[in-house]
Amino acid sequence: MAKRLEGKTIVITGASSGIGKSTALEFARTSPKNLKLIVTARRIDALNQLAAEIKAEVGDGVKVHPVKLDVSNPEEIKKFVPSLPEEFKEIDVLVNNAGLVKGVAHAGDIATEDMNVMFNTNVTGLIHMTQAVLQIFKKRPEGGRGDIINIGSIAGRDPYPGGGIYCATKAAVRSFTESMRKELIATRIRIIEIDPGQVETEFSVVRFYGDKSKADAVYKGVEPLTGEDIAEVVVFAAGRRENVVIADTLVFPNHQA
Ligand code: NDP
Repeated sequence: MAKRLEGKTIVITGASSGIGKSTALEFARTSPKNLKLIVTARRIDALNQLAAEIKAEVGDGVKVHPVKLDVSNPEEIKKFVPSLPEEFKEIDVLVNNAGLVKGVAHAGDIATEDMNVMFNTNVTGLIHMTQAVLQIFKKRPEGGRGDIINIGSIAGRDPYPGGGIYCATKAAVRSFTESMRKELIATRIRIIEIDPGQVETEFSVVRFYGDKSKADAVYKGVEPLTGEDIAEVVVFAAGRRENVVIADTLVFPNHQA
C-alpha cells in the first residue's frame, strides 16, 4: 500500500484535532518516504505542532504544509489552491473531514446561528473544497484522476432526536457524494464516503459548547472508537489499486446500537 501512496499530495481538512489529525499521522506513517501533506483547519498553531510531530516521527520524507483555512468561508477556499507552493499544487487526494455539531435541540428550538454554522461547515464547506480540487483532477487524462474521501456519519443514515440539523447536514453529504460518484463514473476519479459511529474526539466537547462532563456522558455504555480507527480506514481506501473503490463504509464501535 505504501508504494501506491508514494509521491502523492494529500489535503486533509480539519487536521488540527481528532480524526483529521490522526489521518495525517497515519498517512505519514504508512508512506514515510515520499509524501506531501497539506493540513488545514482554523487553528494554525495546532497544525504547526502536527507538522513538527510528523517530522520528529518520520523525518523529511513527508513534507507537511500547514494552511489556516476556514472551510465555511468561500473566499478563503477560492484562494486556497492558487496560494499553495508550486510543489504542493498537484493534489491527488482530498479528505473532506472538517465538520462539527453544535447543540442538541428539538426542531422548534434550533438556534439559527448553530444551524448556519453546521450547514456552512459540513455541507457548503465540503462542496466548495470539492469544487476546488475537482478543477485539478479533471485536467488529468481519461476524464480525470484523484480521490475525494468524504467523512460523513452514521447520523446521515440514522437520524436521532435533538440532532435534526447535524443529521440533515450528514444526509446532505451522503446525497452529494453519491450523486458525484455517478457523475464521475466514466473517469478515474474515486469518490469515497466513510461514515463513523461514535469516536472520542473534541467533537462532543464542541457540541456542548465546551462542557466536558456532558461530552463524556455521550459515550456511556459504549467504548468509542479512536481517531486512529477511522484514520486507518481512510488510508486503506486511498491506498487501494486504482480500479478499487471503497465507495461507502460504516465504521462502528462494537456495542453501538
Ligand atoms: P474534532 O472536533 O476533533 O475535529 C473537527 C475538526 O474540524 C477540527 O480539526 C476543526 O479544526 C475542524 N473544523 C471545524 N470547523 C471548521 C471550519 N469552519 N473550517 C475548517 N476546519 C474546521 O472532531 P472529529 O475528529 O470527531 O470530527 C471530524 C469529522 O468526523 C467531522 O466531519 C464529524 O462530523 C465526523 N464525525 C465524527 C464523529 C464522532 O463521534 N467524533 C462521528 C461521526 C462523524 P479547527 O477548530 O482548528 O478549525
